[in-house]
Amino acid sequence: MVGRDIWIWAEFCRNEPSPLTLELLAAGRFLADRSGGRVTAVVTGEVSSDGAATLGLYGADHVLVLSHPALARFSDEDHAHALAAAVKTRKPAVLLLGASIAGKSVAPRVAAKLGAGLLAECTAIDWTAETLRGVVPLYGGTVLATKEVVALPALAVMRAKSFTPLSPDGNPDVTVEEVRLAPGGLPERVKVIEVAVEETGEVRLEDADVIVSGGRGLGRSEHYKLVRELAEVLGAACGASRAIVDAGWVPYKHQVGQTGKSVKPKVYIACGISGAVQHLAGMRNSDIIVAINNDVEAPIFQLATYGIVGDVLEVLPALTAAFRKR
Ligand code: FAD
Repeated sequence: MVGRDIWIWAEFCRNEPSPLTLELLAAGRFLADRSGGRVTAVVTGEVSSDGAATLGLYGADHVLVLSHPALARFSDEDHAHALAAAVKTRKPAVLLLGASIAGKSVAPRVAAKLGAGLLAECTAIDWTAETLRGVVPLYGGTVLATKEVVALPALAVMRAKSFTPLSPDGNPDVTVEEVRLAPGGLPERVKVIEVAVEETGEVRLEDADVIVSGGRGLGRSEHYKLVRELAEVLGAACGASRAIVDAGWVPYKHQVGQTGKSVKPKVYIACGISGAVQHLAGMRNSDIIVAINNDVEAPIFQLATYGIVGDVLEVLPALTAAFRKR
């Protein structure tokens, strides 16, 4: 018999839960209040006492740590195996994962191992009458489908910025239960030899309140520095359309859109971006959208809060200079 508990898969970076994990805890709390269960944050690997306390503060009733030497480094198959085995034994009603690179890789593997239903890329979620219901954007975000998983346990992958983290006034002394997995208990078909963490000092797109994004209207790859300069003055992250990522002007990690990242900053400044539906899919939920484009008919202006019709090569340096003076 499946219980009423809500599990979230907690991801850590340098001993701190990722921002998306804190959002998942808020989503988990919301569902648990409806299901009458408790929120368990599941860690595959290790967690420091500070890390566990943070999970408690942001809404976890219980922290379950599945530990095994092979889980010290990320391998989707081993982490999925450990999670699926724990779900099978403990029978939570719901398992939520974040739409991070790791979450999107682990979630379908867990669902397949369990034969469970999975709602991918949800922007909202609800629980009624033993059913998990999620809102999933389709066709580049132009259609919002409501989907249900009627058999439990149900899995959902939540997009970033779908829930706001709770204020950290939960329980720092949350119970931490460690389960050591038996040697040989994981497939271990992939051995992670090295993990290289990129040290860029850049603001991450997913965490940014302000994003300055560049598109093909910049004309040449060297002009992307105008985007970087404005971003630096504003303390913003740098985004990009797929057109300039495909052209090799900037790395893929900057791409915003259907096949890039979904962002929801307070301010999104689109510079020389036409506003193709696939780009809008990743940024249409930004609070304020500023578009700079020399074509007054560009589709981006239909969504923009503020529009500047002009040459991006003139407008960007002018904006940077003006903000520098403030
Ligand atoms: P363009 O569409 O070429 O627009 C350039 C704009 O710059 C124009 O509006 C032009 O008027 C303006 N401009 C030109 N010169 C200047 C100037 N000097 N000053 C000011 N403005 C100027 N795209 C994404 O961005 N993200 C995705 O994740 C994504 N996923 C996709 C997935 C699929 C399956 C497909 C088919 C496409 C996807 N695309 C994605 C591509 C998308 O359809 C567009 O081709 C792309 O977004 C266009 O990028 P752009 O706006 O930079 O270029």
